[in-house]
Amino acid sequence: MTKKEAKKRIEELRKKTNYYAQKYYDEDNPEITDYEYDMLMLELRNLEKEYPEYINKESLTQKVGGTVKEGFAKVTHEVPLQSLQDVFSFEEIEEFLQRMEEKAKENNIEEINYVVETKIDGLSSAIEYKNGEFVRGATRGNGLIGEDVTNNIKTIKSIPMNLKEKIDIIVRGEVFISKNNFEELNKKREEEDQELFANARNAAAGSLRQLDSNITKQRPLEIYFFNVQKIEGKNFNSHFEELEYLEKLGFTVNPIKILCKTKEEIFNAIEEIGRKREELSFGIDGAVIKIDNLRFREILGSTSKVPRWAIAYKYPPERKETVLKDIMCQVGRTGVITPMAILEPVKIAGSTVSKTTLHNEDFIKQKNLKIGDTVIVQKAGDVIPEIVGVNEKKRTGEEIDFKMPKKCPVCGADAIREEGEAALRCTRS
Ligand SMILES: [Zn+2]
Repeated sequence: MTKKEAKKRIEELRKKTNYYAQKYYDEDNPEITDYEYDMLMLELRNLEKEYPEYINKESLTQKVGGTVKEGFAKVTHEVPLQSLQDVFSFEEIEEFLQRMEEKAKENNIEEINYVVETKIDGLSSAIEYKNGEFVRGATRGNGLIGEDVTNNIKTIKSIPMNLKEKIDIIVRGEVFISKNNFEELNKKREEEDQELFANARNAAAGSLRQLDSNITKQRPLEIYFFNVQKIEGKNFNSHFEELEYLEKLGFTVNPIKILCKTKEEIFNAIEEIGRKREELSFGIDGAVIKIDNLRFREILGSTSKVPRWAIAYKYPPERKETVLKDIMCQVGRTGVITPMAILEPVKIAGSTVSKTTLHNEDFIKQKNLKIGDTVIVQKAGDVIPEIVGVNEKKRTGEEIDFKMPKKCPVCGADAIREEGEAALRCTRS
């Protein structure tokens, strides 16, 4: 890639990610999957690393996505609600650990402890207490300024209105809707002919960011706390101590937090969370690795966007093998005939997949799919599952080539693929 091309691509990626972030954070209505978004961000970050002269403060690598919705009062966060640096491989985690070790040595810190936690897929909020009494709740917004959602936060059943101690404290938590409650909520909406939420995270965000608290009240919002933003008259040595104290005060804290010392322990913790992911009652979008020692955190400090003492590991999309039992053609309202894969049901990323689209004839050719093949199915989070390839080693020779039908499977009229088009169409539609 030439410098000119890099500049162009960076600008393009900056525009795209800003647009998608707006859909995601401000409108609670994502247009692409989290995984696709993450990949765009990764490309942007890598290009900016190579060409730092093109970094711009409007880039989402430099600022936190999200703004304040009209109609809400603004809250300036006393302590910014930062985001986290995402990483996608164990190598990047190792690099992080190495940086931490070097910094510890420089600063004569003898022992480093880490905490690995689930990264709950909800929306971050700051809740303020004065003299032990709940006074205010705000969304993260752009990290510096959030939306005042006090009345909506109050509708969350597990939020304590009075703490066990009369202290001044600001705590940070993640507001979410559990997987079961999300399914029920969407079922109800379907019955009432209302638009469905794309995923639990959007349902939670859309519910908390309501101007009418009576609507929020009907939504099964929950919150897990994971950080002390500010506290008067108390000092802690470690993050773990902080969390124990939060529990003592009456807060529900993130239930999965694993104290680690070595790289092996950290990798094991991440893998364990990955294995447990499906069984968790709430959705996660990764695992967070953070420094436990609070004094060390202070020394490490932050960039304009993220703390240097933590990273978020994003799990790769889950892949599983299953048998492609058949290919059936569906006819859409516009007459497009779409081949659908009928699969031996397989549990993947929390749901059972037995059917998925094959898009068109070219897709089947590109992937070299035959009926009877063992195929690799991928699903990332809430995304629609897709076939990414064939395990050709498992072929027996009994597999059958698939041909698109010559007639519409619904009405029997001729099916035609026009030149330059990917889709096969029913001529009667
Ligand atoms: Zn037809």
